[in-house]
Amino acid sequence: FLKGKSAIITGSTSGIGLAYAQALAAEGASVMINGFGDAEEIEKERAALAENSGASALYDAADMTRPDEIYAMIDRCHNELGGPDIVIANAGIQHVDAIEDFPIEKWNAIIAINLSSAWHLMRGAVPHMKAKKWGRIISTASAHSLTASPGKSAYVTAKHGIAGMTKTVALETATDGITVNCISPGYVWTPLVEKQIPDTMKLRGMTREQVMNDVLLAGQPTKQFVKPEEVAALAIYLCRDEASGITGTNLSIDGGWTAQ
Ligand code: NAD
Repeated sequence: FLKGKSAIITGSTSGIGLAYAQALAAEGASVMINGFGDAEEIEKERAALAENSGASALYDAADMTRPDEIYAMIDRCHNELGGPDIVIANAGIQHVDAIEDFPIEKWNAIIAINLSSAWHLMRGAVPHMKAKKWGRIISTASAHSLTASPGKSAYVTAKHGIAGMTKTVALETATDGITVNCISPGYVWTPLVEKQIPDTMKLRGMTREQVMNDVLLAGQPTKQFVKPEEVAALAIYLCRDEASGITGTNLSIDGGWTAQ
C-alpha cells in the first residue's frame, strides 16, 4: 500500500531500523537507508530491499551528528526518490555511567544522535510533506521516554525530548495531512542486546538464562524480548490511512514495563 511513497530511515543498517526498512520495502515503498557498518554488508541489504520492494533503495552515509549531512540526505531523497513521504528517526546510541563520571563527549554525542538528529530530520522533511498534504513522521523513542534508569542520564533526557518533540510537531502539522508519533519499545532483541550477554555472564557469574531473565528482562513483565519486526509492524500501521487520526502519541511496545 506504499507504492509510490519514499521513506528515510536513520540508523537502518542494523536492528530495529533495518526491520523498519524491510517492512516499508515489503509494502512497496522506496527506501533510503542510513547508518554505519561494513560497506559490503550494507550493499547486500540495499540490494535485497530494492528486490523486495520492486522500487528503489538507496544508502546514504549521513552522520547524525552532522546537521549539514542530514539536510543533504533529505535533499538527495527528494531529488532521487521524491518526497520524503515518510521519515523515521531511529538512529541511537547508549552510554551508561553515573552523572559525575559521565564523559562530556558521550553526553554531546547522545544528545546529537538520539535527539537533535530527529529535530533536523523533521525540520527538513516537513516542507516536502506539507507540499504533498501527506506525511508520516515516526521516531523510535524508548520506555526510557516515560521512565528512568540509573546511569542513563543522557539517553533518558534524549528520549524524553523525543516525546516532547513528537507532541509539538504533531500540533504544528495537524491540519496538513501529516501525523507525528513515537514508538517506545522496552528491550528489543537486536544484535546490540545479544552482544551484551556473554560479558554480563562473565561479569556476574551468571548463566545465559539468568542474564536474560534477571538482568535484561528484570523490568519487562512478559519476560519476552520485543522483536524488531513487531516494532516495524506498528510503524507500518501508523503509515496506513486508518491511522490518520493518531498523532502526537507515544506508543509503548514494552511487554508491560511502563505499566508498573
Ligand atoms: P543498533 O545499534 O542495532 O542500531 C543503531 C543504528 O544507528 C545503526 O544502524 C547505527 O549504524 C546507527 N548509528 C549510530 N550512530 C550513528 C550516527 N552518528 N549517524 C548515523 N547512524 C548512526 O540499535 P537498535 O537496538 O536497533 O536501536 C535503534 C533505536 O531503537 C535507537 O534509537 C535505540 O535507542 C532505540 N531502542 C532500542 C531498544 C533495544 O532494546 N534495542 C529499546 C528501546 C529503544
